Amino acid sequence: MSDPLKPLLPGATLGVLGGGQLGRMWAHAAQRMGYYTAVLDPDAQSPAGCVSHHHIRTDYLDPQGLAQLASLCQAVTTEFENVPADALAQLAVTLPVSPSAHAVAIAQDRAREKAHFVQCGVPVAPHAVIDTPEQLAAVPDRLLPGILKTARMGYDGKGQLRVTSRDELYAGWATLGSVACVLEKMLPLAAECSVIVARGRDGRCVHLPIQRNLHRGGILAVTEVWAGNVSAELAQQAVAAAQAVAEGLGYVGVLCVEFFVLADGALVVNEIAPRPHNSGHYSQDACDVSQFELQVRCMADLPLTQPRQHSPAIMLNLLGDLWFPRGSDPHGADPTEPPWADVLALPGTHLHLYGKREARAGRKMGHLNITATTPEQARSVALQAAAVLGMAPF
Ligand code: ATP
Ligand code: MG
Repeated sequence: MSDPLKPLLPGATLGVLGGGQLGRMWAHAAQRMGYYTAVLDPDAQSPAGCVSHHHIRTDYLDPQGLAQLASLCQAVTTEFENVPADALAQLAVTLPVSPSAHAVAIAQDRAREKAHFVQCGVPVAPHAVIDTPEQLAAVPDRLLPGILKTARMGYDGKGQLRVTSRDELYAGWATLGSVACVLEKMLPLAAECSVIVARGRDGRCVHLPIQRNLHRGGILAVTEVWAGNVSAELAQQAVAAAQAVAEGLGYVGVLCVEFFVLADGALVVNEIAPRPHNSGHYSQDACDVSQFELQVRCMADLPLTQPRQHSPAIMLNLLGDLWFPRGSDPHGADPTEPPWADVLALPGTHLHLYGKREARAGRKMGHLNITATTPEQARSVALQAAAVLGMAPF
């Protein structure tokens, strides 16, 4: 038997590259457990920088900033997908970095990501990689209508175009700057779901229950989690696929795997996020271990126990649009704070706001978790909260 891992105990300092809301909630989880935290993010107002013990305000690739982070911390993670993999590689020379630069680099490139899924034997959408005009011309007709996605730097539906004909495909590639892209066949979706797994350095893998997700305009709007939100068979397949993807990467840390459920019931993997994910936020209030605590445990080589969900849950994403009363122009009108007291008067509501000063349309400002004793109750309260907030029903 190999030696058990020697954990980094509370009192140590843990670091994160990126200062967004995921870093902020990770810092809260780490601090609750008695760790000190350090955030590297150039923005003085960053949500995580504002709550961390240390905030290094430099560019992600600044050698002095990285050296300072390395000297403060005993382990480092990342909280946003487009963090330069090189920055992680540099830090890994002197301290444990999870996830690794290798895993993050694969997740950052849709073409490499898809190749990895295929290698793991996990079904993916029919697709073609388009790097060159020759590859563009060689795209088979059966991939149309499709979605053209830039291979790198896309998020929240950005860097994507729907194309129905070859002419639209050619024009679309030019619109996206003729950069490396993946064309995916447009699939008939019955549902979308995701699974969060956490894998330790010793290979132990645990997971949160499967999340059922509703997207609007390419952005996650609602996540529903309870036993039976998808069939037990589908849930099992998704968890097995997520574990295979994590294992194939030799992954250490929290990983989210997003899936499509097709009209015929088939499961197809969409993409991975090498970090805690928006669809896992319900775990803060509905599970005995949250996705952020799982990330801390992975980084610190603490034991991973299988999380248990104790309450059915719904998460509503609070986008900046809610700060602009319905009908008003989000570009012209002054923002108005949503009626939080009315929302919190509803039983089982848990408000999470990220401390962003300026509300903008499409900007993730916070989320509302709703827990209840039954799925029906959770839904009823969530629909009331949505009505109070001016969110469309779901
Ligand atoms: P994020 O990083 O926020 O998850 P993203 O910009 O990486 O989003 P995708 O997850 O690739 O984008 O796609 C966003 C949404 O568009 C999906 O959740 C799904 O609703 C829809 N979509 C993407 N690809 C397909 C497809 N091949 N067929 C049908 N719908 C799709
Ligand atoms: Mg996605």
